[in-house]
Amino acid sequence: MNKKSTKDILQAPRGMRDFFGEEFKKRKNFYKIAEEISERYGFSGIETPIMEHTEIFQKGVGEGTDIVDKEMYNLTTTGGDKLTLRPEGTAAIMRAYIEHGMGSLQGAQMLYYSGPFFRHERPQKGRYRQFYQFGLEVMGSKEARYDAIIIKTGYEILKSTDKEIIVEINTLGNNEERKKYVDILRNFYMKNIDSIGESDKSRVETNPLRILDSKDKNTKSVNENAPSILNYLGDDSIKHFNIVKKILEENNIKYEVIPSLVRGLDYYEHTVFEYITINSDGNKSDALGGGGRYDGLAETLGHNKSVPSVGLGLGVDRIIDITDINIDEKSNIIPILKLTNSTNLDIYIKKIIKELNNIKKVIIINHIQKFDKQIKFIKKNGYRYFIIIDEKIIKENKIILRSLKDDINEQININELKNRIREIYKKL
Ligand code: AMP
Repeated sequence: MNKKSTKDILQAPRGMRDFFGEEFKKRKNFYKIAEEISERYGFSGIETPIMEHTEIFQKGVGEGTDIVDKEMYNLTTTGGDKLTLRPEGTAAIMRAYIEHGMGSLQGAQMLYYSGPFFRHERPQKGRYRQFYQFGLEVMGSKEARYDAIIIKTGYEILKSTDKEIIVEINTLGNNEERKKYVDILRNFYMKNIDSIGESDKSRVETNPLRILDSKDKNTKSVNENAPSILNYLGDDSIKHFNIVKKILEENNIKYEVIPSLVRGLDYYEHTVFEYITINSDGNKSDALGGGGRYDGLAETLGHNKSVPSVGLGLGVDRIIDITDINIDEKSNIIPILKLTNSTNLDIYIKKIIKELNNIKKVIIINHIQKFDKQIKFIKKNGYRYFIIIDEKIIKENKIILRSLKDDINEQININELKNRIREIYKKL
């Protein structure tokens, strides 16, 4: 056994970190925002153990993947059970879905979860051995609209960081098409075996799909001529993919089709996607999260029925590292105050709520009390800005945005409120 010095053991294990102070608050705030948005889209929470039987991941994630071959934290209990610290969420959630007979419940199950995951990777910026994900799954439906709902919900969560988010998307076709394509790809790499990178050679047999997104310089130039999955899709798969893309377009979600996007886990079919942002140097960031459809996973785990499903995992560590999520919970809420108690103003309140949807939660302050009492309440509770609806100017669609710190009133058109608030909060 590798004996450690006292100095070594007084440090967290490599690739694992402590969180406290502002970092702790930021993370907590991210989960809160993510949960709120997910619940708004109809998801409800689930929590599963931190360990599962090793086979869940061996079968689910698949032999030949980096995770199963190299990165799992495995242990044998004193009773002889082989358990693994979860390297990802989906296979475990599917195990829970099967165990609790969720298939007999009405409709597709829409679930969210969060927590630590473990992969024994080489630690570097944005890559840790204990990392955290916020995940979503829709289990029990083949419908392409759920692929889009998953992508959209993740997109909304990431948009709350105020960064530009781009969805990279691809399809792997159904299981048969994917298998056929993998064979075609294997043949292609066999023919080019001398030109691809050393580390990719062993993957030609085991997992040729992964060679497609290789970072190796030589492999990358071979990949320029690799066959594209998009030429091997059947009609149903094309239709499925088109529905997903159409819904994204209808929702103004920016996406790019990247035919080499395959993702590292074995269970995906049809839609796969990743979210990225643009770094300050103008380059694409590492993936902030990603996911896809996994119609065959339940059967791979040994279940006697298919449970078509789609899901995603957002990388909390990277999101916090790369983006600047608001650290102060209160800064995500904007109180609205009515100068007069007229129900005619309610339509304007609705307008404001709609305008601020996804960037700030709105609370309406009880207008029965005197105005200065209301202000006192807002101050005491640490709000920095609030909105005043004044009958005199609301007819022109204008409200007052008031800063408590410097006591400044600004008149703003409701349609411009979102941009102005984004601007202000970026500077805080
Ligand atoms: P995956 O479960 O591999 O699909 O990963 C989903 C997201 O989790 C990635 O896009 C990353 O943002 C994040 N992630 C995966 N592995 C790590 C890691 N070792 N350290 C930090 N974040 C990770």
